Order: sequence, then structure tokens, then C-alpha cells
Amino acid sequence: MAEVLQKPRSSVEKFRLKKLLEDLEKKQGRGTELISLYIPPGRAISEVMAALREEHGTAANIKSKQTRKNVQDALESIMQRLKYFRKAPETGLVVFCGAIPRSGPGTEKIECYMIIPPEPVPFYLYRCDSKFYVEPLKEMVREKEVYGLIVIDRNEATIGLLKGRRVEVVRTLTSGIPGKHDQGGQSQRRFARIIEQLAHEFYQRVGEHASKIFLEYGENLKGIIIGGPGPTKEEFAKGNYLDYRLKRKIVGIVDIGYSGEEGIYELMEKAEDLISESKYAEERKLMQKFLYLLAKDPDRVAYGIREVLEALNQSAADLVLVSEELRKAYVKGTCRSCGATVEKIVDEAALERGEPIKCPKCGGIVEVKEAKTIVDLLAEKAEQTGAKIEVISTSTVEGNQLLNVFGGVAAILRFKLQLR
Ligand SMILES: [Zn+2]
Repeated sequence: MAEVLQKPRSSVEKFRLKKLLEDLEKKQGRGTELISLYIPPGRAISEVMAALREEHGTAANIKSKQTRKNVQDALESIMQRLKYFRKAPETGLVVFCGAIPRSGPGTEKIECYMIIPPEPVPFYLYRCDSKFYVEPLKEMVREKEVYGLIVIDRNEATIGLLKGRRVEVVRTLTSGIPGKHDQGGQSQRRFARIIEQLAHEFYQRVGEHASKIFLEYGENLKGIIIGGPGPTKEEFAKGNYLDYRLKRKIVGIVDIGYSGEEGIYELMEKAEDLISESKYAEERKLMQKFLYLLAKDPDRVAYGIREVLEALNQSAADLVLVSEELRKAYVKGTCRSCGATVEKIVDEAALERGEPIKCPKCGGIVEVKEAKTIVDLLAEKAEQTGAKIEVISTSTVEGNQLLNVFGGVAAILRFKLQLR
């Protein structure tokens, strides 16, 4: 079966996909001969095959013999791989395939990548160009954070969404709860009861609408902020009006002066701090756990590539934290002069530039047999030893510390280890 990059779930898998897209973006064909294929979910593969066979036929008209051959070879490679599918997976399938030159003319090799994207592919697209068309996939990978906003008082409720820096007012509902002057001839207690019942029904309605709107965003919904001028917002937040999956996403209840649409904008401004905190709360929590242990029980942590690899080799690491900005690679090879086996950590950029790797014993040039990113190496070792691994951004103070103070990687250990 052809190798397929599965839908990313963990932070490591997301990091890998981001990295792959960066690499694909740099690839360049010699002619118009790199194929990008986006297949939406559920699409019958037989249909796609028919379209590709047609492209294969059309390609016969390409004037340049080399380009014609490369395009047809790429199409054949794709069809060969698609054979294993009956229909596209739940989020669809993205294929990049084409002849990538190694050095001069005639050195091209067909490279094929199949990716199950993190979000559903919205269209069918076939494109043949001198570069791979990665933008739609990049857009899916970009953090799409959405916050749910609810402004509520006794008279009305407005439901909005905060997408990046943009506010969208989705819906306004009114309660129809009568004011005190509407009491008429009823007893005060009976009137109060009616009002309570109406309020309850109103909250239910708001809860149902908000739940429906917010749940559509699934995991992309990072939090919910509820605001309003009176005590209604607390009553609403504490009651069981929002779907249980959403209730735990409430990151703040904020006092604001306005209700309605105006209130949504006021809420967004007041909620900015809450949002930037909640965005990276999980990463900060992990880093703080490490920092706490470092101060209290330094033998229970490792930091820097050397220490963390050592801890992993001894099956001592429980949780590995690696900075997404750590651009190091692991290489393994044989020295051409003395024949020694060499394992080294080098800068990714140096490796990409093709800088020679020197043997630490004799200074000879090492013939590289294996190279991978440090994240891949750590993830592999973590998997073998049952450690968890998380990729940490540099968007927080703690994340910056990880990169700049602790060498980009840290670990919390299962048991004490004398590493330094
Ligand atoms: Zn050597």
C-alpha cells in the first residue's frame, strides 16, 4: 500500500504536515509537470481515475518530449497509488506528484505525496504546473481559532464569533419578558413566577442557538466568553443552557455596559487578555510543570538535546517538550576516511545547503546514510519508550525560554536520573 500521511491529530503530526508543506513549496519542476490533485471527501475514486486517464491522453500532445514523459509518469504513479482506495477518506485526499530534478537535466525522480488533510477538501482540483499548489492545504493547517461570544441580558441576547481579529454577529434573540409595569392585576408572586419561567425559556432558546452555532467549529472553537450588563450572564453561564461540550469551554464571564450588537464589540475588546491567555494556556501549563520540577527536583527533568536523548535512551522520559522553532537535524553515516560510524546533531539549514559533515575522530567527510529532523527523532524514541511528546510554540514567555534557555527541548522524567 502506498504511504499516506494520515490526518494530523497530535501537535507532532501537525508540525510534520506544516514542515512537509514548507518542503513541497520549495520544489520546482523543470517544466510544467508537477501535479497537484485535491479530491473532496467521499468522491468515488473510479471517477477520479477516469479524469486522470483523460489527462494522460491530453498529455500526449505536450511538445517537449521530456515534459510529456514526466507528466505521464506522474499520472501513472498517482493512478497506481489511488488503486488502493475505493473512495476518498473522510476529509478527502490531496496528492502531489511530479518529477523533481536532483541536479542537472535528466536527473529528475518522480516524487509522490498523499495527504489526508485536517479539514474536508472543499473542491475537486487538478493542476499541472512548475510548482505544487499547496496553498489550500496550508490554509487548512493554519491555526483557525474561533471564539464564541454571547452578550445577554433579560431583554435580548446576541451571539457572535471572533475569527482571528474579525467579529461576526450571527444572531440576536429577544426575550419578550414583560417589564414590571406590565404586571396588571396579577399577584406579585404569580407575576414573578411567570417572569422566571419566561427567563428560563429564553435562556434555553439562547443556549440552543449558541450551541448549534458554536459546535459547528468543533476543535477550532477555543473558548466562549459571556458578557452582559447585569446578573443575567452568570445565571445563563451557570445553568445548563449550553451544550455540555461547550460549557467547559467558557473562559470568562465579563461585565460590560452594553447589550446587543454593541455589546459584542465591547466584549471582544474586554476579552482580549482572556483570549491571549487561554490560547496558549495548555502550553504554558506544561512548561510551568517542567520549570517547577527543575527548581524543586532537578534530577526529575532533562533539558537540551543531549540530556533529553539520554533520558529517552534510558526510558526515563515521561513527557518531552520540543520547540517548534528548533531547527536541528539528526544525521547518521560513515566516515569516508576512517570508516567510523558517526551520529551527529546538525543545523537543518546546513544540511539543506549540503554542507559536508565532518567526522569527529579524524575530520574526514561523513557519507550520510540517514537524516531526519530532531522532532522526528524525538517522536520516534518517545513512541518506543511510551513517552508523550508535545510541540511548543514560541508565542509565550515559557515557550521562548524553552527555545532560548533550555536548548529547544526539555523532558519531565518518570524517575530521578543524574544527567548533569
Ligand atoms: Zn573519520
